[in-house]
Amino acid sequence: MNRTPPDADEYSVIGCSDCDNLQIVQGAPKTTECARCGEQLTFKTLKKFYTTKDKEAAINARALKLAARAGNEEQFKQLLEAGALDPDAVRAVTDKEYLEKLGMDPAITDDEGTPSPPDAVMDGVETLNDPTVDQLLDHITARESLSEEQLREAIDRLQQRGDIIKRPDGTLVSV
Ligand SMILES: [Zn+2]
Repeated sequence: MNRTPPDADEYSVIGCSDCDNLQIVQGAPKTTECARCGEQLTFKTLKKFYTTKDKEAAINARALKLAARAGNEEQFKQLLEAGALDPDAVRAVTDKEYLEKLGMDPAITDDEGTPSPPDAVMDGVETLNDPTVDQLLDHITARESLSEEQLREAIDRLQQRGDIIKRPDGTLVSV
């Protein structure tokens, strides 16, 4: 892959030389600490799996790399090139808490962070003023990178918890 050192505004997916943990670092720091085992890693000698200016792409690349570990490297590269990103894998790594654990500054995701499916559903129900499920799904999927499946699951869970109610006419109302 790219052999020149990353610029300050680029993100690299790196692997820990000790425990093999995958994490994302910004720019080209001299050393970086492994979020899992605490090993001090010399950035220059680390294997960079992917370098990009697009933070989302770095997150996706890390997710795909994790997903591909059980499979093969070629498939991972092909997926990346094709831009075929697994929404479930992406969801797993856009979580704020997860980024914190990785040692990334969660503040950098604040502006464009994807809300959790339940939050998106609750917001949508309030914004749309008692929408139908289809209206709600259209509204959210047009704005957030959440899948219909995730949202339907969240709607079910919120109904079970009693946070939202589905009226006989099919509209949803928050309680
Ligand atoms: Zn490690």
